[in-house]
Amino acid sequence: MPGLFYFKRYAESRTAHPCLIGGCRDREEKPGAERRIIMEITGSISEVRAQVKEWRKQGLTVGLVPTMGYLHEGHKSLIDRAVAENDRVVVSDFVNPIQFGVNEDLATYPRDIEADKRLCGEAGADLIFHPEAEEMYAPDFSTYVETEKVSKGLCGRTRPTHFRGVCTVVCKLFHIVMPDRAYFGQKDAQQLAVIRRMVRDLDMDIQIVGCPIIREADGLAKSSRNTYLNKEERKAALVLSRAVFYGESMIKNGERDAEAVLEAMRGLIEAEPLARIDYVEMVDADSIQPLARAAGRVLVAVAVYIGRTRLIDNFILEV
Ligand code: AMP
Repeated sequence: MPGLFYFKRYAESRTAHPCLIGGCRDREEKPGAERRIIMEITGSISEVRAQVKEWRKQGLTVGLVPTMGYLHEGHKSLIDRAVAENDRVVVSDFVNPIQFGVNEDLATYPRDIEADKRLCGEAGADLIFHPEAEEMYAPDFSTYVETEKVSKGLCGRTRPTHFRGVCTVVCKLFHIVMPDRAYFGQKDAQQLAVIRRMVRDLDMDIQIVGCPIIREADGLAKSSRNTYLNKEERKAALVLSRAVFYGESMIKNGERDAEAVLEAMRGLIEAEPLARIDYVEMVDADSIQPLARAAGRVLVAVAVYIGRTRLIDNFILEV
C-alpha cells in the first residue's frame, strides 16, 4: 500500500488470510492490479474514499456489505457472495445509533471487533470501515432519507424511526464507498425492500443484491441478537422458524387465504408461553402493502418477543 494511507494493519490476517495460501478467489486478479494480501481496517471516511479511488484507478469493481458487526454466518454469506462477485470488498461495521428507538438496545447491542476482523479476513474482505458515531454524524447533523409507505408497516409500526435511520446510514455508506454492488440479507426483508425503493427512487447507480436467510441447524435464523437469549428462551425462539416453515408449507400446498395462513402461524407461536407476537403478516414483498390472498411475490413476516428480545423471521414465495 502507498504511504498515503494510515490504516491499522490487521496483523493476525498475515497468517490467517486465505490469500497468503493462495485460496483467496477463484477469479483472476485484473492485470496491473496490486495483489491484495492484507485486510485493512479504518474508522476514517477520507481513508475509505482514498482507498476506493485507488481501486477505481486500477479498474477494479467494489462490493459493499453494510453490517452492525458481531458478525456470524449470516453476515459471512453476504461477504462470501460479495467476494465472489467483486474485485474488492468493503464491510462496514457500525452500530448505527439513529436506527435505534429511545427504548431499544443501542447501549447493549453486542460488539466484538476482534472476532469481526477474523471473520472478514477469513472471508477475503479487503477493508473494514469501522467508524465512531462522531465520524458519521456531526453534532448538528440534520439531513435524513425517508421512504414513505414501504417503511410504515411491519417493523415500521413498532419502530417508527428505524427505517429513516437505516436509509440515512446506507445512503451515507453508498456515498462514502460508491460501490458497484451492495449486499443485504432477506432476513431483514422489509429493510431490503426499503433499500431497493430508495435506490430506485433516488437513481442511485448501485446494484442491490438480496441474499437468503442463514439458519442455525435447528432452524432459528442467525442473528446478533440471539446472544441475548438464555437457554430456555433459545429453545422457545424456535417457534419463529417453526411458524415460518409451517406457513410456507401451507402456501406451497395450495392455501391462498392470508388469514388462514396467518391464523395457523399465530396459533403455533401463541402456544409458546415465552413468546409474545409483535406481528404476523402477509404483504407484497416489494411494496410491503398487506395482501388478503397470496399472489405475486409474497412476503410472510413475523416479529416476536421472546422474553425481552425481539426477533424476526420470514419467507418469500413467488405465487
Ligand atoms: P445487521 O448486522 O443485523 O444489521 O445485518 C447486516 C446484514 O446482514 C443485513 O443485510 C442483514 O439482513 C444480514 N443478515 C443478518 N442476519 C442474517 C442471516 N441470518 N442470514 C442472512 N443475512 C443476514
